[in-house]
Amino acid sequence: MTENLQSENIKSLRYAILNYGCQMNESDAEHYAGQLEEMGYARTEELARADVILVNTCCVRESAELKILGKIGELKRIKAQHPGQVICVAGCMAQKDGAALAKKYPQIDLLLGTSYVNSFQKILQDYLDERKKGVFTNLAVQSSEFEGHRVRESGFSAWIPIMYGCNNFCTYCIVPYVRGRERSRSIENILEEVRAAVAAGYTEITLLGQNVDSYGKDFLRNHEEEKLRSVTSAAGEDADGTLQTEPFAALLKAVDQMPGVERVHFMTSHPRDMSEEVIRTVAEGVHLCEHFHVALQSGSSRILKAMNRGYTRERYLELVQTIRRYIPQASITTDIIVGFPGETDEDFAETCSLVEEIGFDSAFTFIYSKRSGTPAARMQDQIPDDVKHVRLEKLMEVQNAQSLRINRQLVGRTVEVMAEGPTEKDPGIWNGRTRGNKLVLWHQSAEAAASDKKQTDEAACETAAAQTKGCDLPVRPGQLVHVKVESAQTWLVKGSRID
Ligand code: SAM
Ligand code: SF4
Repeated sequence: MTENLQSENIKSLRYAILNYGCQMNESDAEHYAGQLEEMGYARTEELARADVILVNTCCVRESAELKILGKIGELKRIKAQHPGQVICVAGCMAQKDGAALAKKYPQIDLLLGTSYVNSFQKILQDYLDERKKGVFTNLAVQSSEFEGHRVRESGFSAWIPIMYGCNNFCTYCIVPYVRGRERSRSIENILEEVRAAVAAGYTEITLLGQNVDSYGKDFLRNHEEEKLRSVTSAAGEDADGTLQTEPFAALLKAVDQMPGVERVHFMTSHPRDMSEEVIRTVAEGVHLCEHFHVALQSGSSRILKAMNRGYTRERYLELVQTIRRYIPQASITTDIIVGFPGETDEDFAETCSLVEEIGFDSAFTFIYSKRSGTPAARMQDQIPDDVKHVRLEKLMEVQNAQSLRINRQLVGRTVEVMAEGPTEKDPGIWNGRTRGNKLVLWHQSAEAAASDKKQTDEAACETAAAQTKGCDLPVRPGQLVHVKVESAQTWLVKGSRID
């Protein structure tokens, strides 16, 4: 920390972060927060009180951009009341629009593209010393290794990026242009962060990447043999003495073996790259959760080709069958886009029929958004907005029926749940997630939730369960409990805790 920040008024320095977009952005925001807190800033939710406001932006869809531009516009008035306030705009939109954005919104002091997350602290300190505005958008500067610490949103669940960027260039998507080419972190760097998270009490780890199945393949392409060897040997040798060959499978295995880790999730998986070895590794793992977020995007092979996704409807179905062959109870979730240019009623019907055939546990459904600079934005047969909206409604109807059907199958069964905390509406009702990432609600009395008494009295618990009231022993966020499911809705299940 520099000297001028160790002055008397250090305690009164405040920062606010407005974060938009995907989990990768959430993780970047946690790193920005870590750097600000190291500099002596404390978090505030009140923008008017903040000395530094950081807006971490997303440009995947136009709707997100419009919302963010509105917020940046509002900051002009807030800054006028707080002389000296520093406004930083970071992330994908900053990378895409760079100097033009800074020119249009003179309230922006620092504009940081996606490569500058690691160097934010230095850039901010230089600005505080010299008060010279800056635009930083060189994509080539980012190191993939993580330094420093993150101020995590959750007290028990840690997002850990394993790679940055994307090489896929799906024709609708802006991500490869604003996040650059794939760069994997070394396995030592990832495992070190997992170890530190566990030491700080985190028991759930989510490994993040735009295409996690590509993890480490850049080591091979870039002839970084030492990094490749270290990732494949980290998981140890198989029973027959051979080394794991798939870097992502090896990474999963290594994280699974890390003492203190209770659950490991990973996202997003790409249907073209997901291998049987990864599926087998999850099936054989102890803490690797049986949850696969495999983005489908469309059920029509013709549209998948136009999207440059690199697989067909049939290949996707085979992949689902392979997952279910190894892990019959696996939870499979997905992303789907409706209204891609040229999508006919028949193409859309193929998406709906595949959604019904597969039975996804849940799906993020999106209306295609034209992103300037991408190949799809130049395609002729753009779909009218009203058609896109009708298709979205229909698809959500089809998917919701599947979610409800699958959730109903859980009624009467006991599921392992990682407790998250009381619901906002009612502190007497807690929520948590299954290994398949399903939301579960159960009654938990305020006394039991507030007590930090250790859960020792199993007999009391059994008695409580026998009284059908459910177990009401103390619980803390991040604890694993068992809940017997009693009813199901589209988005969640409800039940009674039994231990
Ligand atoms: N890399 C991940 C993958 O390919 O599955 C997802 C990254 S992207 C931030 C998340 C989702 O946004 C995509 O899976 C896609 O469904 C959606 N998306 C991306 N570009 C879009 C666009 N132009 N219009 C609508 N949805 C889009
Ligand atoms: Fe975008 Fe496709 Fe890369 Fe996902 S895989 S980030 S959808 S280009």
